Amino acid sequence: MKTIEDFNFSGKKALVRVDFNVPLDENFNITDDNRIKGAKPTIEKILKDGGAVILMSHLGRPKEGPTDKYSLKHIVDHLSKELGVQVDFANDCIGQEAIDKAANLKDGEVLLLENLRFYKEEEKGDEAFAEKLAALGDVYVNDAFGTAHRAHASTAVIAKFFPDAKYFGYLMAAELKNAEKVLNSPERPFTAIMGGAKVSDKLELIEALLDKVDNLIIGGGMAYTFVKAKGGEIGQSLVELDKLDLANSLVEKAKEKGVQLILPTDSQIADKFANDAAVYDGPNNEIPADKMGLDIGAESAKAFAEVIRSSKTVLWNGPMGVFEMDTFAKGTKAVADAVVEATKAGAFSLIGGGDSAAAVTKFNLTEEVSYVSTGGGALLEYMEGKELPGVKAVNE
Ligand code: AMP
Repeated sequence: MKTIEDFNFSGKKALVRVDFNVPLDENFNITDDNRIKGAKPTIEKILKDGGAVILMSHLGRPKEGPTDKYSLKHIVDHLSKELGVQVDFANDCIGQEAIDKAANLKDGEVLLLENLRFYKEEEKGDEAFAEKLAALGDVYVNDAFGTAHRAHASTAVIAKFFPDAKYFGYLMAAELKNAEKVLNSPERPFTAIMGGAKVSDKLELIEALLDKVDNLIIGGGMAYTFVKAKGGEIGQSLVELDKLDLANSLVEKAKEKGVQLILPTDSQIADKFANDAAVYDGPNNEIPADKMGLDIGAESAKAFAEVIRSSKTVLWNGPMGVFEMDTFAKGTKAVADAVVEATKAGAFSLIGGGDSAAAVTKFNLTEEVSYVSTGGGALLEYMEGKELPGVKAVNE
């Protein structure tokens, strides 16, 4: 793996693709800056070597070109404080201003380019657009694991303009190393915990994991498709009726492969989808027609925690309930606590990005697990065994 560790950036302008797609509140304050903190070691290494950094990223999903709401200018102050360097900003990621600012950038300085996705060419992987970006720097660094599964102009296509000067940043290298460790040399028992809304989103991952894990815990909204498939009454709970056969076949496959598939036995049952709902713990397969399961129940949380605590490798993707509402965060918290305990006892724990990372952050447990990935979709695809375009482009 070609990482920035192998290169001295002295006198060079490094064009660094980062993932600064951070959540912002209505006043444009960054509510979770893990992705900025994650890219910091790479930026600091380049500056310390005596190089200059040109940062490029996307933010959100702008549909109509430049939109103030999605401007990366909103993160300049936060980023400057985090780096301890005043970051300059180019109001357009290509064009004369970007060319001039990049050309005048001195060693030790940092320039942030405006949102790449203000150009539809970015997501299309347009080669001419990638070439314009490439012209701004001497060396290409990809540190954006969160978008490594996309063959976009700045994440993959651009690499061809740097045949002898393309590297992975530290964050990307760490992400790949940790994912690889879990996938290829897990200490056993290896337990995967899957949760979240839909089974259809994580189908390929679940199938791939059946060849790898000893235990597969399934919680969250997706569990009800399994309960329903077995003939349970799930009331208004989340379900994918077109996936019932599939759920049953996954249960069969797990049996064939000797994987212990563990489903919740009880739920926290609510009369409405709201934090102030009336709730009680009850059996998962006897949820009244007018009610819904919005979290795993205490009995399931206890059973899950026991399996997790006795594991040596843990991969967790997806919450156990609607953890954004405190009333339905207990199951996710119980799982998080068990992952922390397992980690303390020597297990390696990898938390998939997205909602599981948000949950671990909410419970202030980020430092208590082995690694929290910054990639949601990218980590899932990597775990499914797919080659990530952003990784392939640097490796080629
Ligand atoms: P995903 O993006 O697939 O990981 O799904 C995460 C979302 O699933 C979170 O926003 C949770 O609120 C939601 N979720 C988890 N469990 C349930 C449930 N039992 N009913 C409805 N939504 C759920």
